[in-house]
Order: sequence, then C-alpha cells, then structure tokens
Amino acid sequence: MSEILDAVRADAGPDELAGLPLPATTRAVLVRRADAGMFEGLDSRDKDPRASLRLEEVPLPELAPDEVYLAVMASSINFNTVWTSIFEPLPTFGFLDRLGRESVWGARHALDYHVVGSDASGVVLRAGSAVRNWRVGDRVTVHCNYVDDQDPSAHDDSMLAANQRIWGFETNFGGLADVCVVKANQLMPKPAHLTWEEAAVNALCNSTAYRMLLSPNGARIGPGDRVLVWGASGGIGSFAVQHVLNAGGVPVGVVSSEAKAQTLRELGCAHVINRAEKQYRFWKDEHTQDESEWRRLGKDIRQLVGEDVDVVFEHPGRQTMGASVFVTRRGGTIVTCAATSGYMIEYDNRHLWMRLKTIKGSHFANYREAWAANQTLIDGRVVPPMSAVFPLEETGEATYEVHHNRHEGKIAVLCAAEREGLGVSDPATRERVGEGRLTVFRRHDQEG
Ligand code: NAP
Repeated sequence: MSEILDAVRADAGPDELAGLPLPATTRAVLVRRADAGMFEGLDSRDKDPRASLRLEEVPLPELAPDEVYLAVMASSINFNTVWTSIFEPLPTFGFLDRLGRESVWGARHALDYHVVGSDASGVVLRAGSAVRNWRVGDRVTVHCNYVDDQDPSAHDDSMLAANQRIWGFETNFGGLADVCVVKANQLMPKPAHLTWEEAAVNALCNSTAYRMLLSPNGARIGPGDRVLVWGASGGIGSFAVQHVLNAGGVPVGVVSSEAKAQTLRELGCAHVINRAEKQYRFWKDEHTQDESEWRRLGKDIRQLVGEDVDVVFEHPGRQTMGASVFVTRRGGTIVTCAATSGYMIEYDNRHLWMRLKTIKGSHFANYREAWAANQTLIDGRVVPPMSAVFPLEETGEATYEVHHNRHEGKIAVLCAAEREGLGVSDPATRERVGEGRLTVFRRHDQEG
C-alpha cells in the first residue's frame, strides 16, 4: 500500500499507477455485527461512537465491472455515520444483508463488518472493464447515490429507484478507509482549487441541499424567496445558506450559539436567529406543543425580513416541524430530508390545508443534481464549510463531535493523504475564490 500511496502523493501518471500492485487489504473504519447490541438500554446521547467504530485492516473485495478502486485521500463525517455507529434507528447490517441477496456482486457486501463513510476525495487506482468515462489516475470526488442502472425504476429520477441506496450507509466498502470501492456513476471531478480534505466534505451535504432548494424535484427557490434554514451552520444548513444566497434569495439562518451566528454572518447570511438565546419551547411537554411559541418564532422572522418565509429547510424533525409548518407563508413549502430529533412528527394540519402549504420529502440527490452541485464548488460559488480535520485513527472522536452537535459545518477525515493542505492543482482559482472565504469555518473553529 505504501508504494501506491507514495505514487499517488507524487502525482504519478496513469501508466505508473496501473503498473503498481494493489494491496490485498486496506485500513478501514467499521462497525462489527457482534457489537450491534452493545448500547442496549442506553439513551441515544450516551451511545458512544468511540466505542463502536474500529479501525481495522480488511481485505479488498473483488471489483465489479462497473466499479473503481479509489485511493481515498480524505473523507468526512456525515450524520449517517453517527446513526450507524450507535446502531439507531436500526443496525445497518439489515441493509447489507438485503443487498447481499440481490446479486452475486451484492453478496460481497453482506459481511460481519460494515465499512462506513459516504464521502470521499481521491484518485482512481483501478477501473472495472465496463467503466468508460473514468481512468486510472483521475482525481475525483464521490457522491453517495448507489443505484442499479439495470432497474427501470432507476431511470428518470434515480432517487425514485426501488433499490436506491446510500453508499457507505446502506452498502459496504465506504469512504472512511485508505481504499474504497464505488460505482463509476458515483464519480465527479474533484474541484482542482481545493485540498483533498476540503474536497471531501461536500458531496453528500451539498447535493442534498441542492436538490431540496434548487432542483425541480425540490422547492425550486428563486430570486427574492425567503428561506428559513434550521441548523444553518451545520452540514446541510451551511450549503443551504450558500445556495439561497446564490439564487438571489434571503436566508434566515437558525443556530444555537453566538459563535455559530458569527460564522453565518461571515458567510454572507445577514439574518440570523440564535435559538439558544431566544429559548423557544415549541413543546410544553413530551405530548403537547405550544402554538404561542410558534407564533413567537414567526414574529421574530417577520421582524428580520418583513414577511413570512416562502420555504423552510427542515431537518431537525419532531422538535421543530410544528413550528416550521406554522411559520411558512400561505402557499409556501416545507422541504424536509431528516428528523434528527425524532421522526414521529406532529403539526397542526389546519395551518397546512387552510393555507395551502406543501410538505415535500427529499432525499439525497440523483447523479445530475449531484453533478450540478459539484459544479457550484468547481466554479467557486459555493465554498466547503470545513471546520476541522481529524486523522482516520480518530474517526470515533470526530463522529462523537457530530453526534453531540459540538462542531460547525463539516469535519474532514484524512485517510491516505499524509497531511493537510495537499491536492491543490489550480492555485489561480483558489486565489480568485479567496483563502479567507475558503477558510471561514476553519478559522472560526480554531478561534473558538
Ligand atoms: P449537523 O452537521 O449535525 O447539523 C444539524 C444542525 O441541526 C445542527 O448544527 C443544529 O444546529 C441543528 N439542530 C440539531 N438539533 C436541533 C433541534 N432539536 N432543533 C433545532 N435545530 C437543531 O447534521 P447535518 O449533516 O446537517 O444533517 C442534519 C440531518 O439531516 C441529520 O439527521 C442527517 O442524518 C440528515 N441528512 C439527511 C440527508 C438525506 O439525504 N436525507 C442528507 C444529509 C443529512 P444549531 O444547534 O446550531 O441550531
């Protein structure tokens, strides 16, 4: 492995890379099937990813014709790795077993360990015989939409495919490793002005926010639209804010600290609500919501932007959904992709139907949407919200930070890259975008 990584680090050409023998094994962060019951009886918050995520040496699986082996220079922590590591709402081995029953190639995934991670930037080491658009040596990022292109339901919008999966969550061989396995139709060009770690933190969250807000499959916002963004300095929220600004809209970002509010302002979000300072209590107790608190949030929004919001970018779920439905303007849209605080949702349906609002479900992004989202990075219109970088050995710690909402933006993980700051091959674009803009989240994290 070290020979191949030295060659990757030295920018070796395709012929040299193709001539080097691949290792039989790779370092990989994984959870073990035998550990699935380790947190039984504990409260979610007490389930500790540092105990369940292990760094081990595992064999590389055989490569299917439509796949590539990728030397993963960097990856990132997504909330789905939190879910896998605490075995909630279900252990992910059920996903792997189902995939295992689908085909010969699928059977490789049904193992007693699950290599996690749904983001990666890196270099193609080998391409299967059916791969046409990519070759050894290509520098790429990876989106996590894993579809079977022989399934008719996977055409039109591949997110509607009957067997659509998220790579590294519902499949094995994810990105938190030195070498991973991905389908060729997950690859996208790496933005050349970004470092490996900056390039690794975007695909999952940026593509998700892109579909929710800009795609015809989402809320399709336009100039002047006011958008309430929950968790606006978090993973998906920090991309949402940038997409709203680029579309000529007006983001109202909600965060839970003054430090996060400051980060958002520096990103260009003029209207920020600090929910910790406001002390909203949307739930009086476990069973009863408080409409007067929804009203208080609505008033705070109007005070900032003069009107109710056209769109709510919703993902906290149970804690906020009632308020989100209430504060959306007549005819507006609540677009939701998650339920971090609980998925059994409650809202007052009268506010939805009488005011002709729409709740729209959204999940990741199809290849076209992920590609368009990647282009916003390549053009420098969107910057990676990378706030911290951890070594692969400390993936558990990094996941713990995300689980406990102690981070901003995205946390990168260095895999095969030997140190930070490598991988930039277009310094001119980097200069044009500006070091200051590219490091907003990192600086805030270091100052904080
Ligand atoms: P993240 O980086 O942890 O950010 C989430 C933000 O939500 C936090 O920064 C926090 O911001 C806010 N938040 C948390 N609990 C809240 C609550 N009870 N009330 C209000 N705000 C709350 O996570 P992420 O990467 O943005 O992901 C967010 C959710 O979306 C996760 O559940 C994730 O699994 C899901 N997701 C789904 C998809 C999909 O394709 N379906 C894709 C990506 C992510 P403040 O504390 O600053 O307010």
